[in-house]
Amino acid sequence: MKKRIRELIKDKPVDKTVSIAGWIRTRRDTGEFSFLEVNDGSCLANMQIIANEDLENYSREIKQLTTGCSVIIRGQLKESPAKGQEVEIHADEVIVVGLADPKTYPLQKKRHSFEFLRDLSHLRPRTNALGAVSRVRSRLSYGVHQFFQEKGFFQVHTPIITTSDCEGAGEMFQVTTPDQKGKGQHFFGQSAGLTVSGQLQAEVYALSLGDVYTFGPTFRAENSNTSRHLAEFWMIEPEMPFCDLRGNMQIAEDLLKYVLEDVVGNCIEDLNLFDKFIEKGLLSKLHGIVDKKFGHTTYTEAVEILLKAGKKFEFPVEWGTDLQSEHERYLTEVVFKCPLIVTDYPAAIKPFYMRMNDDGKTVAAMDILVPGIGEIVGGSQREERFDVLKSRMLEAQIDINEYDWYLDLRRYGTVPHSGFGLGFERLVQFVTGMKNIREVIPFPRTPGSAPC
Ligand code: ATP
Ligand code: MG
Repeated sequence: MKKRIRELIKDKPVDKTVSIAGWIRTRRDTGEFSFLEVNDGSCLANMQIIANEDLENYSREIKQLTTGCSVIIRGQLKESPAKGQEVEIHADEVIVVGLADPKTYPLQKKRHSFEFLRDLSHLRPRTNALGAVSRVRSRLSYGVHQFFQEKGFFQVHTPIITTSDCEGAGEMFQVTTPDQKGKGQHFFGQSAGLTVSGQLQAEVYALSLGDVYTFGPTFRAENSNTSRHLAEFWMIEPEMPFCDLRGNMQIAEDLLKYVLEDVVGNCIEDLNLFDKFIEKGLLSKLHGIVDKKFGHTTYTEAVEILLKAGKKFEFPVEWGTDLQSEHERYLTEVVFKCPLIVTDYPAAIKPFYMRMNDDGKTVAAMDILVPGIGEIVGGSQREERFDVLKSRMLEAQIDINEYDWYLDLRRYGTVPHSGFGLGFERLVQFVTGMKNIREVIPFPRTPGSAPC
C-alpha cells in the first residue's frame, strides 16, 4: 500500500517493504546506482531513493528521470547512513508514470523568485516554499474550525451571492446575466453582488442558534494593489449573542492564540523553513504571542500616542480620520511591540451597525493589529436598539425597506451581540512571514489578474 513520505519519516518502519508516489526533485548518478530525491507534497522533506543499475529499466528509464517527473517507488525502507535524512528507500521497482521535458519544465533546482512563480500558479505548489504555505494554510483552517467547534459554535454557510451589501465594506462585484446586447440583467429580480462579508446573515443565525461562525470567500472590487489586499479572500466571522465588546475581544484573542499554538505544534518543519528563509525570528514571534496578553488601547488614546510620537507619517494623524496602515504598524511594532486591540473608533468612519457608545461620538468597534501586517481583525458590538439603529441607517442613507429583515432582528427579541471578521490570508501571512498576500492563497485574484 502506498504511504505518504510524512508518515514514513515519522514512523520509520525500517527493513519493511514500502511504496511511495511523487515527483522527482533531483537525480544524481554514481557509478552503479542513482540517488533520486522524491517529494510527494505531504511534507517538506524529500525521500532519498537508491536505484541500483540492476533494475530492469535503469538505463532505459531511470537514468532519463529529470525534475518534475512522476514516479511510483516500491522498495525497502532502511536507516540512512548519510547525513541529511534518517531513512531512505532501496528501490526494488521504479515505475515512471509521467515525464517532464527538462527543456520546457519551468521549475529548476535553483530558487525562483515569488514574482516569477506567480505566473505559474499551476506548478508553484511543487516548490518548497509554496508547498509549505499550502500545508500551513490547511492546518490553520483546521485549527479555526477546531477552535469554534470545541467551544460549541455552529458553522453557518452564508450566501456568496447577496442582495445586501453589508455597509459597503468594499466595492461589490455585480452579478448579472448578459442579454443579447451584452448588457447586464437582474437575474434575481433586483441587483445582486458577490458578498463582501457574511456578517449580516451570520447575525440572523446568531439570534436563533446562539454562537455561530462563517468561514467562506468574500469579494471586494477595490482597486487596491497592496501586499495585503485581494479581490477574493477568505474570512472567518463569528457572531455571538449576549456578548459585549469585551467578550468579543476575548474570543478573538483566544482564537488567534489557539490557532498559532496549534500550527506551531503541527507544522514545525514548514515553519522552520519560513524562519530560516522568509522571516528570521518567526518562531519566537509566534511563541511570544501565545504567551503574552494582547495590548489594548482606545482609538482616542492611539491618536494621542501617534501625535506625540514625533514621527513624520505620510498621512497626517487627526482625530476622526481612519488609521492608515503606517499608523497601525507603528502602534503595534514600535509602541506596543505585540498584537494590539484598538477599540472605540469615531462613529463617522465606521458602518451603521456598530453600537453607539454613550459619548454619542464613538462606536463599540475593535480592530486587532499585528506586527508586520497591521489590521488582521475588524469587529464590533452590534447596535441592538431598534431606534438607534434605524436613525443610524437613515443618517447613512441606507434604504430601510431593503434592510427591514435586519431591523426585524431588533423588533423581535433583540439582544446585545458582537462579532468580528478575521482575514484568513492575513493570518496565513502572519504565520508564514510571507511579504505578499498573493503567495498565501492558491489562486490569487487581484486587479488585472486571475490566473487559472
Ligand atoms: P483594510 O483597512 O485593511 O482594507 P477593512 O477595514 O476593509 O481592511 P474589514 O472590512 O473590517 O477590513 O474586513 C475584516 C478583515 O478582513 C480585515 O481585518 C482583514 O483581515 C481582512 N480583509 C479586508 N479586506 C481584505 C482584502 N481586500 N484582502 C484580504 N483581506 C482583507
Ligand atoms: Mg478595506
